[in-house]
Amino acid sequence: MDKCWLRCSKCFQKIDFDLIGRCICKGTLLVEYDLEKINLLFNKQILKKRSIASLWRYHEILPIRNFDSIVTLGEGWTPLVRLHSLEKKLSLKQIWIKREEQNPTGSFKARGFSVAVSLLSVRGIKKVTVPSNGNAASALSAYAGRAGMQAYVFLPQDCPPQIIEECKHYGAFTFLVDGMIHDAGKIIEEGKTEQGWFNAGTLQEPGRVEGKKTMGFEIAEQLNWKLPDVIVYPTGGGSGIIGIWKAFHELKALGFIRGCLPRLISVQEEGCQPIVDAMENASLPTKLSLHSATNPTGLRVPFPPDLDLVVSILKETNGAAIAVSKEEIRSAQQTLGSLGISSSPEGAATFAGLLRLHDKKAITEKETVVLFNTSHALKYMPWKPSDMAVIRNYSEFKSLI
Ligand SMILES: *Cc1c(COP(=O)(O)O)cnc(C)c1O
Repeated sequence: MDKCWLRCSKCFQKIDFDLIGRCICKGTLLVEYDLEKINLLFNKQILKKRSIASLWRYHEILPIRNFDSIVTLGEGWTPLVRLHSLEKKLSLKQIWIKREEQNPTGSFKARGFSVAVSLLSVRGIKKVTVPSNGNAASALSAYAGRAGMQAYVFLPQDCPPQIIEECKHYGAFTFLVDGMIHDAGKIIEEGKTEQGWFNAGTLQEPGRVEGKKTMGFEIAEQLNWKLPDVIVYPTGGGSGIIGIWKAFHELKALGFIRGCLPRLISVQEEGCQPIVDAMENASLPTKLSLHSATNPTGLRVPFPPDLDLVVSILKETNGAAIAVSKEEIRSAQQTLGSLGISSSPEGAATFAGLLRLHDKKAITEKETVVLFNTSHALKYMPWKPSDMAVIRNYSEFKSLI
């Protein structure tokens, strides 16, 4: 019996494990495990004694057979930090923030690419590519470098400059595209056969969701197997939400957790909000998403590859999708920054989303919430400090204040 196989989330067809992400019915292929068998040798006590401080502490429920074949830079097992002052301010039971910016390459994207690149490397794949808003590209660049593969990354030209330079730093062939992430995706699809590229784009292979699901395992373990009531997640392509939902179902099947799943809340930025639109109208994303002046962040994905799956997950958990404005994001970044949290616009959007839930009374005083700070503020900062004087002595300092 194989350790794992793939199942389509739409037509439920089961197929042998392979590096493919789309079913012929256009559904998403997700990894399934023989959890009964895994349960015989794996439990909470074993985890408690385990010293592996990376997502590979859950290797039993990851699609890798041989521990020696993993490509790792120390991803995952990030801190879950409690925000007491905000709990008081909002009168909520507990507010936690998962510090995903502490991953290698400064974002949670490292998780997905550690697993995906491990799978590719076992198969001897040498050239890998991704269309990206930035963090997927830099994560792929780093893991491909680590595995001795060539990475070709395609980014919108307005991608934050530090992330573009970061890709080059890791030795990736880096290209700027006049357009958005789906325009980058078109170039890859057109060239992949001729160039011999493996496309590791969102939901094009099974490894990235498997890596991301470890975020769900970690918050469950870090909260001592008692899930929060609400999770707020900044959503772009959707694989983070899919991964976290999948993790909780696996933990339930293993008997590690019980009860209802947390309400999963997707936060997007106003203007590019296909998930919010789909939740509201149950229709296809509006063309409006394409003409927006939305920030160039991981949230700017006008055409997520499996909108239906994301919507069904949000509905299953009694969750919601919320679009917040640029201004709300900026102010949330400042609030988190002032508490010592280096938060990217996407990560801060989760706090802005929580404020919306709170205003609408969609979260109560007895509830616990986890926010996901998916990336580091530093990656999005300007090259030079803006509008600042340079001083030579104390009296010049006094003249400034
Ligand atoms: C990619 C990205 C997102 C969106 O995540 P998905 O899992 O693709 O929905 C959110 N935040 C940051 C920082 C990202 O890089």
